Amino acid sequence: MKKVAFTRHSPNRHWVGDGFPVRGIFSYNDAAHELSPFLLMDYAGPVVFPPTTHRRGVGAHPHRGFETVTIVYSGEVEHRDSSGGGGKIGPGDVQWMTAASGIVHEEFHGTEWAKNGGAFEMIQLWVNLPKKDKMAPAGYQGIVNADIPRVELPNQAGTARIIAGKYLDKSGPARTFSPMQVWDLRVRAGATVELPATVGWTTALFVLKGQVKTETGEAIGEARLVAFEREGDRLVFQALEDSTLLFLSGEPLGEPIVGYGPFVMNTEAEIRQAFEDYESGKMGRLHAAKS
Ligand code: MN
Repeated sequence: MKKVAFTRHSPNRHWVGDGFPVRGIFSYNDAAHELSPFLLMDYAGPVVFPPTTHRRGVGAHPHRGFETVTIVYSGEVEHRDSSGGGGKIGPGDVQWMTAASGIVHEEFHGTEWAKNGGAFEMIQLWVNLPKKDKMAPAGYQGIVNADIPRVELPNQAGTARIIAGKYLDKSGPARTFSPMQVWDLRVRAGATVELPATVGWTTALFVLKGQVKTETGEAIGEARLVAFEREGDRLVFQALEDSTLLFLSGEPLGEPIVGYGPFVMNTEAEIRQAFEDYESGKMGRLHAAKS
């Protein structure tokens, strides 16, 4: 059984643009190797936005060297990027954007959704790319709720939506560059859950709603992440309330991590190159929005 390695939370929110009030749960500055291949997790909301015609969000900015994974729980996010990718994602949908060699994109609240406003809650995860794939072509996978298979957990403990990876006979639709599991779990109050886990992999559980108890008896509440030891081939926890959880597991990349702002590479020289390439337009440009 995997033992708890450490827990993390961030009591303070900061704004990303004017659309995303996020708690930074971890980043490549503080837990890059411990949580590899996951580089960063921002938890936006839950918060209620009043109706507006103002476009809230963050304008054109670049990324290189990794993937951004946006999981929407409430509200709506619109995205456009320089590779021609784009779309609108709502509750249950996931945007899996491969920045790799470079992309310029913008992220805003859905225009129509914003007119009525409402509850907003999402997670953005940054997933690192192996060194050999950091300069691969950029790409975009828009994954809708209906494409994400749902698995019943044993003993009627709840359900798992398999975004990436495989559980029992169901495989998630996300194409990934290294092996990983990304599951949206809903667990009933009182249920004990046992999940298969891989020896040697990073394994973590993030609590969006509710509360879970780990093998040590420690209660992990809302907006907290618990990371487990690499040893052990099972993850066991109990839900103390009806809980919404994100289960993350992946093979650590074991390569140097050098990050600066929106770029995460393997060396300082590659970071300098990323700034140069962005400034000279090599990551592409975002064309003016049609009005
Ligand atoms: Mn971005």
